[in-house]
Amino acid sequence: MNETGFQAGFIAVVGRPNVGKSTLVNALVGRKVSIVTPKPQTTRHRVLGIVNEPARQLVFVDTPGLHARAKNVMNRSMNRVSMASIADADVVLMVVEALRLKREDEVVLERLSASPLPVVLAVNKIDLVKDKKKLLPLLAELTARQSFAAIIPVSALKGEQLASLREELGALLPVSPPLYPSSMQSDRDQGFHVGEIIREKLMWRLDQEVPYGIAVEVEKIETTDEGVRISAVIWVERAGQKAIVIGKQGKMLKEVGRAARLELRETLGQPVHVELWVKVRENWSDNERALRQLGHDLT
Ligand code: GDP
Ligand code: MG
Repeated sequence: MNETGFQAGFIAVVGRPNVGKSTLVNALVGRKVSIVTPKPQTTRHRVLGIVNEPARQLVFVDTPGLHARAKNVMNRSMNRVSMASIADADVVLMVVEALRLKREDEVVLERLSASPLPVVLAVNKIDLVKDKKKLLPLLAELTARQSFAAIIPVSALKGEQLASLREELGALLPVSPPLYPSSMQSDRDQGFHVGEIIREKLMWRLDQEVPYGIAVEVEKIETTDEGVRISAVIWVERAGQKAIVIGKQGKMLKEVGRAARLELRETLGQPVHVELWVKVRENWSDNERALRQLGHDLT
């Protein structure tokens, strides 16, 4: 392929919370650019995951899921980020779960029906479906209701059918020089990823509403002779949440720090020391200034 035939573009990844958008982007990029938990609303920011092929550059835009009911400033901002990513994209990758469409999937489908962009539909989590024939009714229903550029059953978790998905998406990209240096896999800096890893470890361990009331702000990343020293603040909205995050005799905070340290040691390739502080800032998720400080894009 000569240089003029190079293809590159943005692929907005959309779908309701928890269908596996971030897992899929990570699997396609081959690196954790976006954190994953079994809880909805894990992805709060727009994160780019970049796949570099010899003749194509696929820039995935992982978005927060679209919320049917946006209750506070953060949720409204997350919806706006999702919709804006679609407006700026060249191709849309919509993700649904195998076997069932929910009302929130319908909301996303409806919004996309007005979009002029080609939409590729990934039917994810097929590893959970033993008898693949059971997928047929859903595939037939989806084919009938909207004209997708392609419908591809995949498993982000097991890496099934990802090469086909990549090929379908890549073929739809416009002819363009690369949009980012080919050494880049994400647009976010190290501080962002470190904060997200800590937030992931917290979200896995917290029940009910607490996960949605926390934010992580990395204050310091320092490389020393003994390795990397990280210091971060975990923001909570109420004193009661602070007690939960710290845990009995500091147990929860210790576990979170340990889990984050182990993963960061792998990704950074050197010993890591993590220091965590918990602080209360009332209603930060409904406070525009606080959200901006925590890296949310509110424009
Ligand atoms: P998002 O909210 O759409 O970004 O979803 P996540 O990527 O955070 O994933 C939500 C949950 O679904 C996590 O527990 C993932 O491990 C799980 N998940 C994602 N993809 C798959 C898949 O292909 N198979 C299975 N079994 N689980 C998956
Ligand atoms: Mg996500």
